[in-house]
Amino acid sequence: MEPNLIAPCGMNCAVCAAYLALQYDVRSKGGKMAYCKGCRPRNKQCAFIKKRCPHGLLEGKIEYCYKCRDFPCVNLQKLDKRYRANYRTSLIENLIFIRDEGVDAFIQSEEVKWRCHECGETISCHNGICYNCHSEKLVGKPQYHWE
Ligand SMILES: [Zn+2]
Repeated sequence: MEPNLIAPCGMNCAVCAAYLALQYDVRSKGGKMAYCKGCRPRNKQCAFIKKRCPHGLLEGKIEYCYKCRDFPCVNLQKLDKRYRANYRTSLIENLIFIRDEGVDAFIQSEEVKWRCHECGETISCHNGICYNCHSEKLVGKPQYHWE
């Protein structure tokens, strides 16, 4: 994991199902998942809030949403609610951690939080699957559930 994979909204792209699908090339194994190399590497800045941000998130003016005077805005709160309910992640808590402890400390905690207990590789927050151990579960329709 690296700082360039931490999106402005606090999402860690390294645990995203589409990022891991690309890293493990699940399509070559018969998976039908979307591929993404990460929000910042794609230079899209934000895959979720997009044009709903009036402070220039899309233009790269906001390094992290915690630096915005509207933090946490309504758009971020909605996204955070969805992530807390479904993906074992709070983007707002992530951002506060990054603000208070720094991005390197955040990455260290993420590497522990999402480490597969079987092989040490990374589990996706979106479907709970380790792509290294359980890539066969990704073949066919994408699955979004925790084991
Ligand atoms: Zn594993």
